[in-house]
Amino acid sequence: MAAPKARPPRRRARGAVTIAEFQDLIRRTYHARDLRRGLDRNYLWFTEEVGELAEAVRKRDRAEIAAEVADVLAWLVTISSIAGVDVEEAALAKYGRGCPRCRSIPCACPP
Ligand SMILES: [Zn+2]
Repeated sequence: MAAPKARPPRRRARGAVTIAEFQDLIRRTYHARDLRRGLDRNYLWFTEEVGELAEAVRKRDRAEIAAEVADVLAWLVTISSIAGVDVEEAALAKYGRGCPRCRSIPCACPP
């Protein structure tokens, strides 16, 4: 069987934001409140949202999965902001050249 063709790079949808812009959007929206809550309690909220995502995945409910993915991402950037981590920078530093172990796209590591 032929290997699937690589997808062309996705064009940015109108109104789309980068990961860094999304982190900034969430920071501008909630940062004062999130700072008062502190890193540990924000992390607890994040894990709660991951649990809700697990439930949506179990149900195979695409709309619910989409809603929970948004919540998980928002809480992920929140705890990152409080910890002083730039999510886009961190993600690209680790995965920007493909698999961090074999440096290939797609990953060529043994299964
Ligand atoms: Zn690999």
